[in-house]
Amino acid sequence: MGETATGRRDPDCVFCKILAGEIPSDRVYEDETVIAFKDLSPKAPVHVLVVPREHRRDVRELAEQPELLAHVATVAGDIASHQGSGDFRLLFNTGPSAGQTVFHVHAHVLAGGTLAEGEM
Ligand code: 5GP
Repeated sequence: MGETATGRRDPDCVFCKILAGEIPSDRVYEDETVIAFKDLSPKAPVHVLVVPREHRRDVRELAEQPELLAHVATVAGDIASHQGSGDFRLLFNTGPSAGQTVFHVHAHVLAGGTLAEGEM
């Protein structure tokens, strides 16, 4: 139980646990390769995380799979269109000093209202 389709899973990773259904989340989208759920501490009217099912540390590792990276961007755009005006900010915090706290790659989709420059 709890394995991803490819078997790449870290037993200590909070997002792997969400993917496995061991921690609840408010899912807004899922398919074979990604899931998207609402951020626990939203920083914008729409704040969704798009998370590849495979455990990869950050966007550098995700970029080794360009099609999956492109898919993350496409899903983000669809979520912004369904839940807001279609405008959105797509953010990958990469590394601790950039604010990354969960080391399972995820794209923050921020939308709704007017996002301030420099704001997350
Ligand atoms: P990072 O700081 O790594 O870029 O983003 C991690 C994000 O994950 C944070 O915005 C944080 O609020 C969110 N987060 C952490 N733990 C959970 C959780 O258990 N459930 C959900 N829905 N979001 C989480």
